[in-house]
Amino acid sequence: MKRIHQIYVNGRFVDPHGTETMQLVNPSTREVLGVVTLGDEHDTRDAIAAAKTAYATYDRSTLEERATYLKRLHDAVRARSRDLVEVMIEEFGGTRFFCEDIIRRAIDAFPHATEVMQSFQFVRPAGKATVHMDPLGVVGIITPWNASAAFVCSKLAMALAAGSTAVIKPSELSACQTQILTECFHAAELPPGLFNIVNGRGDVVGTELTRHPDIGKISFTGSTAVGKTIARGAAETMKRVTLELGGKSPNVLLDDADFAQAIPLAVMSAFMNSGQACLAGTRLLVPEGRLDEAKRLLVQAVSAVRVGPPGDAATQIGPLVTQKQYERVQGYIRLGIEEGAELLIGGEGPPPGLEAGYFPRPTVFTGVTNDMRIAREEIFGPVLSVLTFKDDEDAIRIANDTDYGLQAYVSGGDPERAHRVAQRLVAGRVFINGLFDEPHAPFGGFKQSGLGREFGTYGLEAYLEPKAVMAPG
Ligand code: NAD
Repeated sequence: MKRIHQIYVNGRFVDPHGTETMQLVNPSTREVLGVVTLGDEHDTRDAIAAAKTAYATYDRSTLEERATYLKRLHDAVRARSRDLVEVMIEEFGGTRFFCEDIIRRAIDAFPHATEVMQSFQFVRPAGKATVHMDPLGVVGIITPWNASAAFVCSKLAMALAAGSTAVIKPSELSACQTQILTECFHAAELPPGLFNIVNGRGDVVGTELTRHPDIGKISFTGSTAVGKTIARGAAETMKRVTLELGGKSPNVLLDDADFAQAIPLAVMSAFMNSGQACLAGTRLLVPEGRLDEAKRLLVQAVSAVRVGPPGDAATQIGPLVTQKQYERVQGYIRLGIEEGAELLIGGEGPPPGLEAGYFPRPTVFTGVTNDMRIAREEIFGPVLSVLTFKDDEDAIRIANDTDYGLQAYVSGGDPERAHRVAQRLVAGRVFINGLFDEPHAPFGGFKQSGLGREFGTYGLEAYLEPKAVMAPG
């Protein structure tokens, strides 16, 4: 059994002042795999003080110094990539394919931030003024459990590239992953205080970060409900906030789309990370006239999805992260039936033989209308809702009729028409005829999917504030 009883403050592993403990459960077996001691407000304030002291000199560091630190972090995380994958599979239950991808992203976050920083214009003219893009002070980083290492690394890398220091509060459910990541960061031998890591509850450590006057910015990824709490709390001290929140992303199949390609892609996008993905395409919009064909292909594609132990290379859906998340997903499957949707495949309960863990059955509902809760609320499990539309205008109307706006997908045979539809969708990213990855492209949401953007130049700018300097001559 793992015992994680220290936090990381001012370049050292230290015993926290907090005494509350929490059990960590393996979602594949429901066995207790560890126990973590949680930090409290006192620990958070110590971490903020260390980051503030470090910031007093780090804000004037050269880009060369920052690049050196980022390179050391990169090398240290890469050296433990195998450990990071294995602990993520064990603690979170992510599939091997997904965990390997996430750890690759975590590693790549450091050279990405370096590259963006090195080509960024930190000083630029504006008429007779000179504008300096200044860092925002100590940054509070708060992250969720569904891709912990990637969120922590990408936010920390950008904060350091901007000239900020950081206090990181990862999800309390990711303590084993956090431990290994912290050991990596420690091995990079950065000056003390540049980053500090406090395991703890959101309503304790997260609230203190949000409240504290010495935090200049919060970079948060998580649920929309918590994002709103943070935005409200941050307003008191006018902290800058970047909020990466939930989604209910539409996937529009135009009537000239090649369904043989588009439907397997739709299933993949809906069920990525066992459905625990903010950008999952969970509302599939199908032209009325092609519904029967879509249903046939959906049954075929979903029947072929392998649910099983997350460590197996062939597994496509693993367990959900916790009992609570499992019950939440089961509740939505029951709700879909009660709301009158037609259960095309899947349903309540675990797949046969997988009763030991929190394994869900990949589920598809047809006959869904956009007023049903299963079409409006983020479920965060492998549950896909299929809706029909009459024409392109109707598809655009239904796709945009949502509180969210993180991601959207379009498939169609005529690229110009698909682009025209994509142009009208209210979403931070739109994928046409495929799934893509571009680290320089901004990532973030419209509407209740968040505030601000991450990655690339847009992501670095979110950690900076313009200061205009004017003088005679
Ligand atoms: P969550 O909002 O419950 O928790 C996220 C983090 O916030 C955790 O570290 C938690 O401890 C902390 N927290 C909780 N209450 C807090 C408070 N009052 N003040 C400050 N911090 C607090 O989210 P989760 O369940 O860990 O993750 C799932 C959610 O994250 C989903 O809604 C998903 O869509 C979203 N998400 C969004 C993105 C994105 O980039 N847009 C990516 C991944 C996940």
